[in-house]
Amino acid sequence: MRDRVERPPRLGAAVSPISEATWERALDLIAGADEIALACHVSPDGDALGSMLATGFALRSMGKRVVGSFGDRHFAVPRLLRFLPGQDMLVPPEDYPAAPELMMTFDSPSAERLGLIGPSVAAAREVIVVDHHRSNTGFGTVGLVDPGAAATAMLAEQLIHRLGGTLDRDIATCLYAGLVTDTGSFRHSSTTPAAHEMAARLVATGLRTDEIARELWDRSPFGYLKVLAAALDRVELCDELVWTYVTRVDRAAYGLPYSEVEGIIDIVRRTDEAEVAVVLKEDDEGAWQVSTRSKGTADVGALCAAMGGGGHRNAAGFTSHESVDDTIGAFRRLLGKV
Ligand code: 5GP
Ligand code: MN
Repeated sequence: MRDRVERPPRLGAAVSPISEATWERALDLIAGADEIALACHVSPDGDALGSMLATGFALRSMGKRVVGSFGDRHFAVPRLLRFLPGQDMLVPPEDYPAAPELMMTFDSPSAERLGLIGPSVAAAREVIVVDHHRSNTGFGTVGLVDPGAAATAMLAEQLIHRLGGTLDRDIATCLYAGLVTDTGSFRHSSTTPAAHEMAARLVATGLRTDEIARELWDRSPFGYLKVLAAALDRVELCDELVWTYVTRVDRAAYGLPYSEVEGIIDIVRRTDEAEVAVVLKEDDEGAWQVSTRSKGTADVGALCAAMGGGGHRNAAGFTSHESVDDTIGAFRRLLGKV
């Protein structure tokens, strides 16, 4: 099957840090496994879930038994990703193999970011890590990790191609969701020619990109506008930092799940006067999930790593169990804006 690989699609980086020997090792492990357990990071976004499901389709068509999951305490696919095909592959964390023969992780920089299913990494015989975070810890036994890739979906496409799979509509839908999510619809600095080339391959399968865009961004419940209004009402701008917060009480008033407020950062970051944008989102457990974005000068990935989180240079996050004031105060001190 591998003989069919002539010219693999180009990756984001001019020179991929993933060696041919590493790809070979991953393909051999997959060839030798009957059952493969897939995982992506908690509170999955389009790239995490899309990359995992796309790969799941390819593995299933090779005759593999496939299960996939993410380790959220309240296991539910975020509403805006429910249009993705392949969700019959998903099992809740309690049904996830405790010690898989072969595990594959997607878009997760560490075992900890897998949440409740993180412990399966240590117990698995082999773990193939598919990721594009510069903050990747190097966990797992085979690392398909390229920080130059605009999305994990680009690495998933490469893997599917090398497995001899074809881009059908289901796979293309999942990969496209990953690609548009992580490139900010091809607006972010991570958007390479290779990202556009991949989009062309995906769209050529007959994707309705307008329908996918509507599913991802234009189907918010009315309550979202009310919660957004509350968040924007308290927004603050000081020293090129624009920030606000959303509480679980804000959400409860409109029955809005946590996943619905993930996109508020994309509105707050529009502020022209700000170099860095921060949105603190209180989750259902009362912890603050902090989203940060930079326009390029500040390395929020490094700042968030110092706060116990991680991510990319211009988009990163961390979790805080302190108050809003203490959390933003600590972040501002790191940023040197106090
Ligand atoms: P978002 O703000 O969209 O949730 O996340 C932006 C980026 O930061 C993503 O690449 C995401 O994986 C990463 N990120 C967000 N929260 C955390 C966190 O708590 N820990 C780590 N390691 N990365 C995070
Ligand atoms: Mn990603």
